Amino acid sequence: MEKSLEILKKYFGYNRFRLTQANAVENVIAKKDTFVLMPTGGGKSLCYQVPALVLEGTAIVISPLIALMKDQVDALRANGISAAFLNSSMNPNEQNETFRQLKDGKLKLLYVAPEKLSADNGHFLNLLKDINISLFAVDEAHCVSHWGHDFRPDYLFLNGIKEQFPQTPIIALTASADEITRQDIIKQLNLQDPTVLISSFNRANIKYFVQPKQSVSNHIIQYLNEHPNDSGIIYCLSRKGTEELANYLKENGINAAYYHAGIPSVERAKVQDDFIKDKIRVMIATIAFGMGIDKSNVRFVIHADLPKNIESYYQETGRAGRDGLPSEAILFYSNADVMKLKNFAMSENEEQSSLMLRKLQQMTDFAEMHKCRRQYLMEYFGESHPGNCNSCDYCLSEFENWDATIDAQKLLSAIFRLKERFGKNLIIDFLRGSKSVKIKDYMKDMPTYGIGANSDKKYWQNLIRQLIINDFLKDSNDEYPVLKLTESSKEILFNSRKVNLQKVKDLVKAVTVEDIE
Ligand code: ADP
Ligand code: ZN
Repeated sequence: MEKSLEILKKYFGYNRFRLTQANAVENVIAKKDTFVLMPTGGGKSLCYQVPALVLEGTAIVISPLIALMKDQVDALRANGISAAFLNSSMNPNEQNETFRQLKDGKLKLLYVAPEKLSADNGHFLNLLKDINISLFAVDEAHCVSHWGHDFRPDYLFLNGIKEQFPQTPIIALTASADEITRQDIIKQLNLQDPTVLISSFNRANIKYFVQPKQSVSNHIIQYLNEHPNDSGIIYCLSRKGTEELANYLKENGINAAYYHAGIPSVERAKVQDDFIKDKIRVMIATIAFGMGIDKSNVRFVIHADLPKNIESYYQETGRAGRDGLPSEAILFYSNADVMKLKNFAMSENEEQSSLMLRKLQQMTDFAEMHKCRRQYLMEYFGESHPGNCNSCDYCLSEFENWDATIDAQKLLSAIFRLKERFGKNLIIDFLRGSKSVKIKDYMKDMPTYGIGANSDKKYWQNLIRQLIINDFLKDSNDEYPVLKLTESSKEILFNSRKVNLQKVKDLVKAVTVEDIE
């Protein structure tokens, strides 16, 4: 321990370890396999960098983030550590030079891109046979699992490590792994009786808010005006979206810039740097922004569009409040975004697409459900939170109970009469007695036609959503989604089960942006 603390101080300038770092470091130094689950920004890198310096030999780090590899290696070198990387962007001469250094035992750390592992049918691991390897670190380890959200076939070659290097410790690190993925990672990497270290995902200083996506840019301007000293990130789905919003904010006198992968890298580095140095107050960005960025005083992260899954949402909102001071995460949510992302997902191959749809469903559940947001997030990552958090929009709102039995019966019987063959728009039109051509004459003769005319479209949409969340109804979720009954909906229809739902009574201090109005 003495030795690792000394190295922590000498090479990295820190006085103490954070979260489970100390355990991870000690465990690897003791040559034991280790699994580290730590939120983004928690400090996973030091878990293998410190042991790499304590142990003899070279540490092999497998990392899929090629773009970051060079930065990481440069940072290590700047701290006086001999490190190098190997990836496909290098020419053969450069690769040979790196190999020579490796053979001469000159490197403490070698970063390797996953495609190196699969090249020549896994030849790379053989090359390492003659080298004194201190440890293998598998960064972003969820990429090895089909259950993760970012499976990479190249990672499958990692399962040969344990067999070929039984004496060398493997440390697997990830910020996103539910219980199944976790088990799968351990299995795929063949970790031997690993020490599993899980840090809490609770970010107590971040408040979570979700609100309907309506006139987003104006809400954002109001928010920014209300928090004049705060700096933050606004995520958009498309490059064009970031440019438009940035321009709109600038026209309104806000110091903003945009960032996406289509901007030349020199310029990108410049805006990123300006943001970190507080020369730019608001960064409007696609998800390309943020990996590896360390700005501690990000006070808010706003999602102007819906993220694809909980992992992304958590990772992006996690960039707020690294200094531990109160910060806010605000998500603007709309059905249109859900449809857009569904279409994206549908364009993938079948396996990928069903995984993406499942993840998207969890994201929409999070946005729509009446439950503490923090509890949901923590449960998602396999933890629990005792009681309500009192710092999310749900916990800060007051609800009143709402007996929805009669309307639920109307809705479900319409679906039943129409033989569960239609989507929500047609069902709502039907209930409201619409004259639309989509409503065929035979439908108009049914007794349920028009029985919901006294409530508007929004009301019915909301009820459908609530019933889906409470498992009284389901969405078939395929290309032409139709509403289907569930076992519980039959109880409402045929056994007159009561339906008690909740609705917001008063937004107390919940949705910050709306307070202003
Ligand atoms: P992760 O990979 O988990 O997202 P990093 O390893 O990139 O996180 O670390 C995030 C930031 O936290 C880096 O700037 C790192 O230098 C800093 N950090 C890591 N460990 C410590 C520590 N023990 N004390 C202070 N800062 C730390
Ligand atoms: Zn809460």
